[in-house]
Amino acid sequence: MRIHDIHQSFAAVGAKPRHIGRMTRAWLLGRDISIGRRQQQAEDFLPLSVREALPQLAMELDKLARLRSEHPAADGSARLLVELADGQMVESVLLPRDGLCVSSQVGCAVGCLFCMTGKSGLLRQLGSAEIVAQVALARRFRPVKKVVFMGMGEPAHNLDNVLEAIDLLGTDGGIGHKNLVFSTVGDPRVFERLPQQQVKPALALSLHSTDAELRQALLPRAPRIDPEELVELGEAYARQTGFPIQYQWTLLKGINDHQDEMDGILRLLKGKYAVMNLIPYNSLEDDAYQRPDGERIVQIVRYLHSRGVLTKVRNSAGQDIDGGCGQLRARAEQTLAR
Ligand code: SF4
Repeated sequence: MRIHDIHQSFAAVGAKPRHIGRMTRAWLLGRDISIGRRQQQAEDFLPLSVREALPQLAMELDKLARLRSEHPAADGSARLLVELADGQMVESVLLPRDGLCVSSQVGCAVGCLFCMTGKSGLLRQLGSAEIVAQVALARRFRPVKKVVFMGMGEPAHNLDNVLEAIDLLGTDGGIGHKNLVFSTVGDPRVFERLPQQQVKPALALSLHSTDAELRQALLPRAPRIDPEELVELGEAYARQTGFPIQYQWTLLKGINDHQDEMDGILRLLKGKYAVMNLIPYNSLEDDAYQRPDGERIVQIVRYLHSRGVLTKVRNSAGQDIDGGCGQLRARAEQTLAR
């Protein structure tokens, strides 16, 4: 379902554009849709036909993203398993400091070798309404001031819906544009569309390797784009928006944690308006990939940082619960299949 469909269902019961705007804003802020911005009661501004339809409308909105289970972690984050109206499930993650990570697809076609979501392939796209519904749901638990599109799915493969959601979140949803983070493996369409948007989000690019061949092997169905070209496109967007590019690098022991890669990062990112986010892989038992030792991670950070690349270690949120993105959903599916 798209946001337009929600507006249509409000209009179908007699809501005028001003009512639609208020009801949409109230929903996005996690409030009752009968309450306006100035906390007026429904009787003060909604026509009778709309008031009568409110319980049904509220139920339909609730069905877009329902909480199936919540899994709090020691780091202050919580993974939410979210059920969509057709019974499909995605994950959202409540992040520390009022952030929320949302999903944009059920499954994903890119098939990154280190990602559980990629193993299922693409099952379906999320409509823009289902994307913002994750924010409305999360706001019932805590404030949401930042939304990152780093959950299940490749946002560039569902571009119209994701950009529609970003537009709404950056206006009626009350989220600052730099606090909306579009994350992609680097689809050229992103660099054409984002600069034209009214709401221009910050950008995160999944780099993972500076070696084009290794990168292609790790991200098998990502667009074939040279890491150097990707960084140049990112740099142009960063200069245009004033928001640094956040490069994502899942650190895999013995694969992309060696000295050649570190020198490759310096070659590509030194002097760029960028932050390097190192995400040590969260290995499970019998995993094909392993997390580098703590000592090696510290060495890498020092090496890059001291040579002029702003580098941060980001642990995958809530990794003490169920590892990376897609693992909760995979476990729920297995349970259902039993
Ligand atoms: Fe898709 Fe992201 Fe997983 Fe890669 S890491 S398969 S792009 S969800």
